[in-house]
Amino acid sequence: MCGIIGCVNRGERTLETLVDGLERLEYRGYDSSGVSLLGEELSVTKTAGKIADLRAALEERPLDGRLGVGHTRWSTHGPPTDENAHPHLDCSGEVAVVHNGIIENYQGLRDELAGDGHTFTSDTDTEVVPHLIERALGRGASPEAAFRDAIAQLEGSYAIAAVVGDEEAIFAARSDSPLVIGVGKECAEGDREYFLASDVPAFREYTGKVIYLDDGEFARLESELAVTDSDGQPVEKTVNTVEWDAEETGKSGYDHFMLKEIHEQPRALRQCLSGRADELAGTVELEEVDDVSPSSVHFVAMGTSYHAALYGVHLFQQAGVPAQAFHASEYATVTPPIGDALVIGITQSGETADTVSALREARSRGARTLAVTNTVGSTADRECDETLLIQSGPEIGVAASKTFTGQLAALNLLTLATVESGRTRRDVVPELRELPGRVQSILDDSNAEEIADVYHDSRSFFFIGRSYQYPVALEGALKLKEISYEHAEGFSAGDLKHGPLALVDDDTPVFAMVTGDDEIARKTVGNIKEVEARDAPVVAVTDGQSNAELYADHVLRIPEAIPRAAAVLTNVQLQLVAYHVADNLGRSIDKPRNLAKSVTVE
Ligand code: GLU
Repeated sequence: MCGIIGCVNRGERTLETLVDGLERLEYRGYDSSGVSLLGEELSVTKTAGKIADLRAALEERPLDGRLGVGHTRWSTHGPPTDENAHPHLDCSGEVAVVHNGIIENYQGLRDELAGDGHTFTSDTDTEVVPHLIERALGRGASPEAAFRDAIAQLEGSYAIAAVVGDEEAIFAARSDSPLVIGVGKECAEGDREYFLASDVPAFREYTGKVIYLDDGEFARLESELAVTDSDGQPVEKTVNTVEWDAEETGKSGYDHFMLKEIHEQPRALRQCLSGRADELAGTVELEEVDDVSPSSVHFVAMGTSYHAALYGVHLFQQAGVPAQAFHASEYATVTPPIGDALVIGITQSGETADTVSALREARSRGARTLAVTNTVGSTADRECDETLLIQSGPEIGVAASKTFTGQLAALNLLTLATVESGRTRRDVVPELRELPGRVQSILDDSNAEEIADVYHDSRSFFFIGRSYQYPVALEGALKLKEISYEHAEGFSAGDLKHGPLALVDDDTPVFAMVTGDDEIARKTVGNIKEVEARDAPVVAVTDGQSNAELYADHVLRIPEAIPRAAAVLTNVQLQLVAYHVADNLGRSIDKPRNLAKSVTVE
């Protein structure tokens, strides 16, 4: 859930590389952190709290070493205390281990090890690992064999990195948790710098060459890199080059990553469409889904991605293909009959545990699966039959912004390439190509900040919309909740009077998305009148084609667009509202309390 960093052959910069790397991983959410370096001996510093606390502890007692590992912890076993922070050591203090994930069989292992005389100093599941390694070493195993032996006994999900004895190497393995290796430059005597992390931004400033470790593989990082399978046989790995640069993972002058990412949307959209949607020819080329033509679709997703899934349902249904969206967590537990449905998992990180598990369930029942993700080499990418990358670039803010937009754009490409008619393609492709410019005009002219100034201390915020604007209403409310900690709900506009209307009063601003001037727009205007009659302040998010503004206290304007594209545009206004409300309230926007970017636990 949290972050791992490791590096070898960085000389005097080892400690700095580890701590800076942990800072780059802060976005993943964490409650404690620590580092371990191998110098003359193995040393560890770890602490509950922020990386700043770790830095303070290191200032008092600096560590040095030629290689090391670091960790940000998001507690699953035991509270966030200094003792429970990683790295964890064995009894002799010669084995240091960092771990992301959950070791499901830890209790049995712990009882067994305690029975053998091992002493535990934390509540974590992780601590069994250094003791397992110690036990194997005691039985005469080499450091690598001891590491393999320990890993072989684990059940659950893990990315693990370890320093064992005085062996000048980092050992790593993964199962269901991300781990990526960075191939750095050659340094003295033919040695090469290597990095290890749960995500590329941790070491991107030093290298863009990466190797994604797969489940069941082992890596040994020393002067050279060796990747082997569970039998110890060498595995030939591809070195990928990441396209984005280190600067892209910084804030580039914005106060928050989220604001930067909201402003990156025109570029993210262009990246998503580029080379795929040809405006002149009115065609969409997606090699990834060349032979996909589903007769029905099941979407599985969570959170924001689930809202993208609801949008995807509309796209498929409009094209005459039956489609349903499921919360992946429900799908994995109560799987509906799949028949010959294509099962599409939407997950920004590609590691969302609920979604990965629903996709696995679908596969085990013989379904064809497709991942819609932002993360090359992620579990969803590797395990699904096909992957459609949204190509939004790294997103650091915990609350999804540009990746939701990327998901909507990618779903349009998917339906246009697979199930929609040539005529629809000719109508829609030019609209998609217009989207980046239209989003830019909203970013340039939005009055969302003024509206946030007026309403930021309201008791509750409601969002309503129909058709393509319904998922936007849900997403608008989720965004506000996530980063402002204020109560917000999204409804299908028609459902409002079936209950929630009882909550509406003059302290409940209602954001109503009304685009076009068709039957759908007219019905939503009717719903606006209903809340207005109950004294609720109304903010119309509209292209001005209907008469919604007549009944609104405020207007957030979007350029005119076809309905499916208008949903992308209204959502941008709602992102800005959420951002400015949260900013007004002084919230921790990029790292909201209790939330993590990549939810890798079910
Ligand atoms: N399960 C481990 C713990 O509670 C690791 C959690 C994590 O992924 O940070 O310490």
